[in-house]
Amino acid sequence: MAAQIIDGKAIAAKVRGRIGSTVSTLKEQGITPGLAVVLVGDDPASRVYVGMKKKMCIELGMYSADHELPASTTEAELLALIGQLNADTRVHGILVQLPLPDHIDTDKVLEAISPDKDADGFHPYNVGRLMIGKPTFQPCTPYGVMVMLDEIGYDLKGKEVVVVGRSNIVGKPVALMCLSRHATVTICHSRTKDLPDVVRRADVVIAAVGKAEMVKGDWIKPGAVVIDVGINRVGEKKLVGDVEYAAAAERASAITPVPGGVGPMTIAMLLQNTLESAQRAATR
Ligand code: NDP
Repeated sequence: MAAQIIDGKAIAAKVRGRIGSTVSTLKEQGITPGLAVVLVGDDPASRVYVGMKKKMCIELGMYSADHELPASTTEAELLALIGQLNADTRVHGILVQLPLPDHIDTDKVLEAISPDKDADGFHPYNVGRLMIGKPTFQPCTPYGVMVMLDEIGYDLKGKEVVVVGRSNIVGKPVALMCLSRHATVTICHSRTKDLPDVVRRADVVIAAVGKAEMVKGDWIKPGAVVIDVGINRVGEKKLVGDVEYAAAAERASAITPVPGGVGPMTIAMLLQNTLESAQRAATR
């Protein structure tokens, strides 16, 4: 039987639709959720991401504060701006677009963002809360993966999840989120022995490696759900995931495509985090 294709574009549009209507209700109560996006330098890919975030923020009726700073900005100047945004009551989420120029200490900057406005969920305080099962902000891409599983009605309880990749932004947080939903979780990385055999055990495979089609179709247990976080450019224009899609789709019960799978979810969840932050601020 052909695998169900998990349509990230459609799910992200649905999430944005829900956000838009909640924003309208909040505005009637005098609350406008606001996101500040900070870009340092002129990396073309970062500029595209920042532009998309700003556009969607405005489309959903949110307040958008845009700070585009030259590459020569000092660490002290950036920290001063973050201090201002932390104090600005119109701003409920602060996102500093990475990567930052080499002369700026990324960890210092991320830790300067108020944990109450940490829309990316990267502040150690929020990472710690995720670890103990009390998340405040959930990192956007893993949060998007969870929403996709919810949308297909998949219950993780008691299931074997294999996460390939252990980065702080995808692999580790997605593993913790699956654990909090009572899955049995294995995290694999570049030193894992017999990776194909580990993946073959999985009811759910989450691939976040950054290597084109590295997870082979015949590693997929028949009926497994495959979530492919990878985005890899092949040649001039083609994008592929970390999973050998066509072969995996023949065995999986459900699979995310690349592009059009996890990718569109990330910005939607950033906006969701900003909305949730505004709701929390209103009750403080
Ligand atoms: P990182 O490079 O930070 O981490 C990659 C992980 O894969 C590491 O833990 C590494 O292991 C592991 N790995 C590398 N080679 C192998 C191998 N041969 N076998 C098993 N594990 C291996 O990547 P990210 O987590 O930041 O991103 C992963 C992918 O997801 C990328 O393609 C990225 O573009 C994409 N991405 C997509 C997003 C979206 O919005 N859809 C958002 C974020 C990322 P080790 O730790 O041992 O080095």
